[in-house]
Amino acid sequence: MIPVNQPLLDGNEKKYLLECIDTGWISSEGPFIKRFEESFAAQVNRKFGIAVCNGSAALDVAVAALKLGPGDEVILPSFTIISCAASIVRMGAKPVVVDSDPETWNIDISKIENKITSKTKAIMVVHIYGLPVDMDPVLKLAEKHGLKIIEDAAEMHGQTYRGKPCGSFGEISAFSFYPNKHITTGEGGMVVTDDPDLAERCRSLRNLCFQPQRRFVHEELGWNMRMTNLQAALGIAQLERLSFFIDKKRKMGALYSDCLQNIEEIQLPCNQKDYAKSIYWVYGLVIKDFVPFDAQEAMARLAEKGIGTRPFFWPMHEQPVFHKMGLFQNEKLPVAERIARRGFYIPSGLALTEEQIKKTADAVKEIFCNSR
Ligand SMILES: *Cc1c(COP(=O)(O)O)cnc(C)c1O
Repeated sequence: MIPVNQPLLDGNEKKYLLECIDTGWISSEGPFIKRFEESFAAQVNRKFGIAVCNGSAALDVAVAALKLGPGDEVILPSFTIISCAASIVRMGAKPVVVDSDPETWNIDISKIENKITSKTKAIMVVHIYGLPVDMDPVLKLAEKHGLKIIEDAAEMHGQTYRGKPCGSFGEISAFSFYPNKHITTGEGGMVVTDDPDLAERCRSLRNLCFQPQRRFVHEELGWNMRMTNLQAALGIAQLERLSFFIDKKRKMGALYSDCLQNIEEIQLPCNQKDYAKSIYWVYGLVIKDFVPFDAQEAMARLAEKGIGTRPFFWPMHEQPVFHKMGLFQNEKLPVAERIARRGFYIPSGLALTEEQIKKTADAVKEIFCNSR
């Protein structure tokens, strides 16, 4: 079986992990945490980095730090991971969803302004699968309407928008270091910001809102979302390799695109726009409408050939959990609905070999061409 993801851990990971064991520093108090926070923040041109236990926690902390809550609306794409909408709903704010762009699969920026009301407080921008959102028009809208920007850059380590690092836009940005991200700490996440007060709030929220003077007296509720020194050790080793990883991902994407370009049944990922070149967080395919089967069927056929796959995200406005809360009752977002049903991604991990890419591409060709 060719796995859908496998990370590369062949740099200094082992060395730094051994350092943790040898020194006894394994908790969140260890010295790698500060080093990882500072070097990661510097890498994305931010003043502050606050390491947390995963990317979903990073979003929870970001939304809480901005004090979004009951009565507030936050605009986000429907086509994303549940963590985005969950962070908004958990704070008591209302998620307002927007359809996707059929070419890039990112939020359709032409449909944002219609969703802005007097209650809108923020836009959660989510860069999907490898190409960033076209930020300039979104930043302009935010300025015009006085909205905050929360940037979910979980799939964008090392990516830039018009030469500026993803993770450097808006008030606050969130990253994940799950094993399928461009750098991994096993589980892990990071919030980055330039605002010292926001940074302090994030630090407090991740640490149960303990107070420096009277530790066990709390003015606010936080969480224990701390990252361990072990995770930060991995993070530093991975960060050292980031430019190699991005280069490798781009080459993998180019090889896939080359091998798959003549299959008329599928839409390939957008390679580039004038503001960025894809870093192929995952290599996604969307089956065109004239094909008589959907992503589920294609994934089953590929599994029979030993190819691991994953479905695309399922849109937020079609989530049973949100319907039960009375959210998104009559929402219809045709692009998100279509790509959720007809989209899936093929093996995209950093450990993937050229041979595995070619074998995967051949299998994809077979399942479509054999049913012509
Ligand atoms: C992976 C991911 C997250 C969540 O990160 P976890 O570390 O898995 O909690 C959030 N947003 C996006 C866009 C992601 O891809």
